[in-house]
Amino acid sequence: MALIVQKYGGTSVANPERIKSLAARVARYKALGHQIVVVVSAMSGETNRLIALAKEIMPDPDPRELDVMVATGEQVTIGMTALALMELGIKAKSYTGSQVKILTDNSHTKARILSIDEHNIKQDLDDGYVVVVAGFQGVDADGNITTLGRGGSDTTGVALAAALKADECQIYTDVDGVYTTDPRVVPEARRLDKITFEEMLELASQGSKVLQIRSVEFAGKYKVKLRVLSSFEEEGDGTLITFEEENTMEQPVISGIAFNRDEAKITVLGVPDKPGIAYQILGPVAEANVDVDMIIQNTGADGTTDFTFTVHKNEMGKALSILRDKVQGHIGAREINGDDKIAKVSIVGVGMRSHVGIASQMFRTLAEEGINIQMISTSEIKIAVVVDEKYLELAVRVLHKAFELEAA
Ligand code: ASP
Ligand code: MG
Repeated sequence: MALIVQKYGGTSVANPERIKSLAARVARYKALGHQIVVVVSAMSGETNRLIALAKEIMPDPDPRELDVMVATGEQVTIGMTALALMELGIKAKSYTGSQVKILTDNSHTKARILSIDEHNIKQDLDDGYVVVVAGFQGVDADGNITTLGRGGSDTTGVALAAALKADECQIYTDVDGVYTTDPRVVPEARRLDKITFEEMLELASQGSKVLQIRSVEFAGKYKVKLRVLSSFEEEGDGTLITFEEENTMEQPVISGIAFNRDEAKITVLGVPDKPGIAYQILGPVAEANVDVDMIIQNTGADGTTDFTFTVHKNEMGKALSILRDKVQGHIGAREINGDDKIAKVSIVGVGMRSHVGIASQMFRTLAEEGINIQMISTSEIKIAVVVDEKYLELAVRVLHKAFELEAA
């Protein structure tokens, strides 16, 4: 007997039929003697619908009230899922985030989980219930409803698996695993049987949407055995996220290519080249809770330098006004520009550690297509470049081919 957390995404609970088939799968696991905790997302499209509704009233919605609204999506699906299980004769009980008590900090719309009270769930499992928990939501110390950021149900699933010391956390989605890249862009993309936790972390942080990055961080920290599976197929082992690297000869150098259309580039031109400038630029941006991804500073010439960084597209306006209002005059920058017509492409693989020439192969491949590289950043197992948005798909396709990712 194992304790398994199964997380189902929006497409897996899109309508009553799908919820019934989800319940049937849970019933099969239950019949094998396992204890099951189900975590569900809102029905697909529902979170977007709720956000759009809020924006019709307040264009930049108050975050506390937005959380109150969007958290309802998951409250509907936990009830439906519990009902579907009951219809199959299975004892089931649903919990919202605050009922479990998934305690988070108070950063509305992107709250972090601080602790989970697992006692009631444990008791219910011991009493033979399937426990159904709302993904994506929690409650802060003052009792306010919070949400964990888009895709946050993955994190709920993994965090619950960690708190319950589950044997496995299964993430059911509309794809049957983690692919070398998005098959909608490269039809030859291949499903990976295994991927290391570090690679998954890089892929998620570089824009792969299969798992929310925080869920992967959680899995790494608490060593949760994580598997991505299709909720539309009965067979198949999906992709297992492993903690060991296998040093086999067949291990490819590059495991996957991620891309991200959601970033925007901000350039601060003509800033004095002296200590403290990076802090004076990025300090106020960080204080406004805007996440910064890539950062580049050029070598100075004539005592001045240029400073470029990327933020989420939705936050470009906010970052620009902070810089123009609070920073530009203060540090004496000549000009501040924003560009949201960019995209980031990253190649990821633990094999990079033991191979040389990967970066030059990537740059040559892009150069041969005449694709200009605007920014570069690297880690031990990743090379990321920013290119003009209109070359994104081409870049992904040629890189997928150049690194022979279609070959098994
Ligand atoms: N319903 C939320 C969203 O659409 C959370 C999730 O699906 O994971 O982002
Ligand atoms: Mg998702």
